[in-house]
Amino acid sequence: MILFLGTRPGKTEIKQLQNVNCPFCAQSGTLTVSKTSNWFHLFWIKLFRISSNTVAECSHCKRVYFEEEFSEEMLRALS
Ligand SMILES: [Zn+2]
Repeated sequence: MILFLGTRPGKTEIKQLQNVNCPFCAQSGTLTVSKTSNWFHLFWIKLFRISSNTVAECSHCKRVYFEEEFSEEMLRALS
């Protein structure tokens, strides 16, 4: 019997942060957050989420922020 085990990315959620200033260029409403989750699956059935990857990008200065670099303002807008 062959077991199909593995991980694969789930769908990506995109969220525009309104009223949040980019910590780098100080423009407001330019940050877009995308969240991708990785799932552990067995026979193509999602079992549980093993990790998620959240990044924010500023459309003005093109700076990309990783989750650990998010400002308090950004974290508040996401929660
Ligand atoms: Zn910016």
